[in-house]
Amino acid sequence: MSQTSHSNSALQLYKFCPKCGGKFVHRGGNHLKCQSCDYSYFVNQAPTAGVIIFNSEGKVMMAKRKFEPKKGTWQSIGGFVGLDESLEEAAVREAKEELGVNIEIDNYLGSFPETYEFGGVAVPFLAIYFTAKIIDGNPKPNDDVAEIGYFTRDDLQKLDITYPALRELLLAKMS
Ligand SMILES: [Zn+2]
Repeated sequence: MSQTSHSNSALQLYKFCPKCGGKFVHRGGNHLKCQSCDYSYFVNQAPTAGVIIFNSEGKVMMAKRKFEPKKGTWQSIGGFVGLDESLEEAAVREAKEELGVNIEIDNYLGSFPETYEFGGVAVPFLAIYFTAKIIDGNPKPNDDVAEIGYFTRDDLQKLDITYPALRELLLAKMS
């Protein structure tokens, strides 16, 4: 999916002004303007925190989605950043919720824009990834994770990955 179609679907999500309930008109880019009160609203991507963990053999941990959307496909541990959280806090919380472990963030890995389709609404998000290591606990699938597995670079080429850009990010890191 191209950047343009992401942007168009995101702009169509917001039809009414949060200040007065008036109708929005698109003023170009990510700018919507209320026809009644002139309030400007800028549609942005919601950040998500992704956690990339390698085992001692250099294989990458992936998590199989337990629920829709994209149930059964593989992605990293992670999720949306809460309203009062930093990106780093969200990464640590998600690892605890989904694997039952404490992690320490090593490095920034990369990011890409995506959309999350749920209940018929496509929400734009910015998938941001860190590499991390487990400092306490043995990872077990929990929460919205059906299964975890460790994969080589060759495995990743064939794996049904939730977001194609994540495959590219991991292949670049593992080359
Ligand atoms: Zn308004």
